[in-house]
Amino acid sequence: FLPHLVASMNQVEETYIMIKPDGVQRGLVGEIISRFEKKGFKLIGLKMYQCPQELAEEHYKDLSSKSFYQKLIEYITSGPVVCMAWEGVGVVASSRKLIGATDPLQAEPGTIRGDLAVQTGRNVVHGSDSPDNGKREIGLWFKEGEVCQWTPAQAPWLRE
Ligand code: GDP
Ligand code: MG
Repeated sequence: FLPHLVASMNQVEETYIMIKPDGVQRGLVGEIISRFEKKGFKLIGLKMYQCPQELAEEHYKDLSSKSFYQKLIEYITSGPVVCMAWEGVGVVASSRKLIGATDPLQAEPGTIRGDLAVQTGRNVVHGSDSPDNGKREIGLWFKEGEVCQWTPAQAPWLRE
């Protein structure tokens, strides 16, 4: 029993979720937003955006040495994306579970990638991999004033 882990599970976090150009082109925007909305997380930022090259490179800078990096940048800038910021207790790790494994063929059925995609290079959605990266990525993709603080009417029906 590790009290500090229990404490971190109760932390309100923010994560950056992005529907990639294939998700937009394939008409999956509503479906993907629904998964997070129905789960009970709070949408605090949402916009459609044609990502410039420099932002794609900054977002994926940790992967710049990978063989697929150039293709990844072309993919992410190939059409508009849908940028989202979501807030909730444990939202970072939970979103990664909702999204599923990087390779959609390995992703469990019931996950977004497991249900809606067939290849790593077209895996329809991005989710931050840590609370720190959640903050970093929301800061990269959203301008001051684009993220909203609000209290959903359903809040007392989601958490006791
Ligand atoms: P994620 O956190 O599950 O999105 O996966 P990563 O952070 O490891 O990689 C970021 C993104 O790069 C993935 O979602 C894919 O779009 C892409 N990617 C990762 N590995 C590969 C690969 O081996 N080939 C290609 N074409 N794309 C990849
Ligand atoms: Mg990642």
